[in-house]
Amino acid sequence: MFWQTGYIFIIFAAASISAAVAVYAWQRREQKGALAFAGMMLAVAEWLITSGCVSLSRTPEQARWWVDPRFFGLTAMLAFYIVFIIQYSGHSKWLSKPLLVVFFSIPVITQIVIETNSWHHWFIVDVGFSPDGSLMGIDSVTYGPFFWFHTVYSYLLVLFGIFLILQMAVRSFHIYRQQVLLMVFGIIPPLFTSVADAFLLIPGLKHPLAPIGFAIMGLCFGAALFRHQMLEIVPVARDMVIESMSDAMIVLDIHDKVVDINPAAQSFLAMDALQIIGKPIREVFPQWRDLPNLPDNQAAAESEIQVGDPETERFFDVRISTLKIRHKAQGGRVVVLRDITPRKQAETKLKQLQEKFYEQSIHDPLTGLYNRRFLNEALEREISRAKRSGHPVSIAILDIDFFKEVNDTYGHEAGDVALIHLAGILSKLTRAGDFVFRYGGEEFLIMLPATSHASAHQFAERCRQHIEGAVLAYADQHIHLTVSIGVATFGPQETGPERVLKAADAALYQAKTSGRNCVMIDRENK
Ligand code: GH3
Ligand code: MG
Ligand code: MG
Repeated sequence: MFWQTGYIFIIFAAASISAAVAVYAWQRREQKGALAFAGMMLAVAEWLITSGCVSLSRTPEQARWWVDPRFFGLTAMLAFYIVFIIQYSGHSKWLSKPLLVVFFSIPVITQIVIETNSWHHWFIVDVGFSPDGSLMGIDSVTYGPFFWFHTVYSYLLVLFGIFLILQMAVRSFHIYRQQVLLMVFGIIPPLFTSVADAFLLIPGLKHPLAPIGFAIMGLCFGAALFRHQMLEIVPVARDMVIESMSDAMIVLDIHDKVVDINPAAQSFLAMDALQIIGKPIREVFPQWRDLPNLPDNQAAAESEIQVGDPETERFFDVRISTLKIRHKAQGGRVVVLRDITPRKQAETKLKQLQEKFYEQSIHDPLTGLYNRRFLNEALEREISRAKRSGHPVSIAILDIDFFKEVNDTYGHEAGDVALIHLAGILSKLTRAGDFVFRYGGEEFLIMLPATSHASAHQFAERCRQHIEGAVLAYADQHIHLTVSIGVATFGPQETGPERVLKAADAALYQAKTSGRNCVMIDRENK
């Protein structure tokens, strides 16, 4: 008695769940596969209810009255089942009108055969039915040819459906694999219980087990539907995109544990999905710690990371987005890593090239000193720095004496060498922070930041003496050079470089007119 009550309770509970799942799917019928799924679950509910009614029957007549419509639920369920799986596994194009007619006319024909069985006995030849108080009361049954035709057809459909689901499970991105596997699991119980029922495999058991098998299927599909939102994400197309994309993609749950990972991410982390899934992201992806935290109110954040040592380093653009799941504030996160190494390398190269061009543009190719182009920029900068710090800036303009003669005596090439020689001396004599420019053909300008007029004068004198003392050996010849220098200093009231340049030039002119090989200073600075 306990078993009977328990059995009936299970049957009707399962029927309610299946009907609820059918309604849920019906409400989402605009989604792919949802309508067929709703039909399937409704047929399951019908099958369960009629089975429950058979079990509740107290007389053989009552039982017989409920047995026939039971088959309608079963056969209709199969038709919806195969349509749903074909659609859900992404093969909707198979479903031509003639095929749909075949799928749905089978339940109708079967029902007609069943209803008219007493005339031809195609479905059931003989049934030993004893109302002994057990639920179904079937002792033995001999099936007719149509039953066998329908059974073979049904199992072929079920197996084909399982094949499609398994194929989908193999190809699927893991997040869908769970729900697909849940579906596979859901189909197994009805498969075995219906075999057990049809052939009365468990002797003495007079309760049909198949409805319970279908109850389990209803629960599994329901769980897949509610927990994993099966119908909200039709996996096939999206899977292919995620699986084949070159960006690494890692899905995290609310606790930052890896839920899913695509092949690109597996090769990025150099680990297999099985080693990664379920682990905290911190463990499998050490750079995670360096990434900025995503504030709760922000949907996405982007940053860059560097992986590997300088020789093998790669750069990745990391985008972290919050996953929004309906009715939940937060549903984990998705991390997408894009390899931006080629772009980074190109950027670095361009930067180096720009630096090189800039360096070239401000230097004189013969002497390697700064050129006149850079003078204005450097002067402006030093003047404004001097204004801020209060330190004076001095300049010295230097011109080689009788350089035309050097060219004339030793040749133009020797002149060039002499210019290089002089540049070397000046570079050696200046401190870090001083600037030496090739101001004209054989004229040089030295800018001395934080140098007083007196110190600049001393410096210029030191240069003059040094040059006078140095002998340039060129092609067995000894070239002696002397220079004339004009010195001037920027005062605090100075607004631009013009006055001081002119003053230094004037001092230089004075040095030339006073007999050369000497240093003259700007009169205003005296
Ligand atoms: P001064 O003492 O009055 O300065 O006499 P100077 O002969 O040096 O006269 P000036 O300063 O006018 O000299 C200009 C000469 O410098 C003209 C040119 O032959 C020479 N010169 C200018 N640039 C170069 C260069 O790049 N290489 C060589 N070899 N000679 C140059
Ligand atoms: Mg000159
Ligand atoms: Mg000269």
